[in-house]
Amino acid sequence: MRAAASGSGMTSASDAVAAGRGPAASFPGRTGMRHTTSATLAGHDPAGLLDFFAAELADHGLPFEQAQPGRYQSVMPAGALYLLREQGALRLTLQAGGLAQLHGLRDLVIEHLAEYSADLAAGLVWSDLAGAGAAPPNFRLMRALSVTRPSPIYLRVRLAGEDLHSFDADEMHFRLLLPPAGRPAQWPVLSANGQTLWPKGDAALHRPAYTIRHIDAKAGWLEFDLFRHAGGRATAWAEALRPGDAVGVIGPGGGGFPCAPWLLMAGDETALPAIARIAERLPAQTRGHVIVELGDAAGRQPLAAPAGMRVEWRIRRGHSALFAAAQAVAVPDTGRYVWFAGEKAQAQQARSWFRESRGLTADESYISGYWKAR
Ligand SMILES: Cc1cc2nc3c(=O)[nH]c(=O)nc-3n(C[C@H](O)[C@H](O)[C@H](O)COP(=O)(O)OP(=O)(O)OC[C@H]3O[C@@H](n4cnc5c(N)ncnc54)[C@H](O)[C@@H]3O)c2cc1C
Repeated sequence: MRAAASGSGMTSASDAVAAGRGPAASFPGRTGMRHTTSATLAGHDPAGLLDFFAAELADHGLPFEQAQPGRYQSVMPAGALYLLREQGALRLTLQAGGLAQLHGLRDLVIEHLAEYSADLAAGLVWSDLAGAGAAPPNFRLMRALSVTRPSPIYLRVRLAGEDLHSFDADEMHFRLLLPPAGRPAQWPVLSANGQTLWPKGDAALHRPAYTIRHIDAKAGWLEFDLFRHAGGRATAWAEALRPGDAVGVIGPGGGGFPCAPWLLMAGDETALPAIARIAERLPAQTRGHVIVELGDAAGRQPLAAPAGMRVEWRIRRGHSALFAAAQAVAVPDTGRYVWFAGEKAQAQQARSWFRESRGLTADESYISGYWKAR
């Protein structure tokens, strides 16, 4: 059943407005939520809008509650959304730890709000944005510094850029923005309502996700390990990349650093950069099991996993047996976390199996398809 927010107990004007304070002052913000933006949702019945937000958030398993009369909030892992009734309208405030996260949240809100009213979504004016045509806050135009081979199966690409501090936080992935071969790149821009506009048609960008393997935000560089596979557009791009070439990147996003007393990490070549980075940051007392499946034994690399974690390298013979290997691991009932990434169909199987047969909740697992076999 859809949650309703517009029931009794709401006032038409908020305490904050009555007290002459603006919405920012009425939301002290959570620790680490340093970035804020606001927009007024005018010309629509606030009660109907509140019901819409409540239902949409509930559909995505996200919280939505009335914090005080006339004030509503949804505090999510990636940020927070606040709604304040003021003078016959709703004031929407978004908060996040980084500009990139704030912009990602805004993009999602606009996308969903357009389902309620395309005109309302198109007419939003945000407090933090200068106007149409600017680069999205999570876009970086970087320069290639080097392409090396840390092992026969990877190309390690180092990129230089400015303002990389948001890339050195809790999210370790980003997307490369690759223009069609032989065409100059058209980068995404902001629309007047703050949404990211992507080039379309012949100018559409290929946007594969990668994992930041190393980063020095102060020195202004990050690097990632790209698995060389047949037919890969990103592989062809990296092989042709020369120092000084411009590279568009958007991020960071998705996938944090799991931490639990017992951890299972299982993945293939595309997941190894993330597994290696997570392993380096685990507390020394972490116990568990790491399974890495490769097509070529030459791709093995030293893993800085805690001593209490068993590291198992498996070589793929024809079909992948990654999921079967993960299934065979004895997962404890508590204090556990399962991290699994690989081909999409296997990840889907693994997600269902670990949830149904091992009772893993979303808080105890990250199970993600990193590529799709075609
Ligand atoms: C969160 C996240 C993090 C990721 N991190 C990394 C990373 O750090 N390093 C990395 O190398 N990859 C990583 N990946 C995987 C990478 O995004 C995909 O492999 C992507 O498809 C590569 O794009 P492409 O241009 O090379 O291939 P595409 O041009 O998209 O696909 C071309 C062909 O290659 C096939 N293909 C794609 N990936 C593979 C593969 N792994 N093995 C065999 N065939 C494949 C496709 O099925 C298709 O037939 C990550 C993915 C996600 C979602």
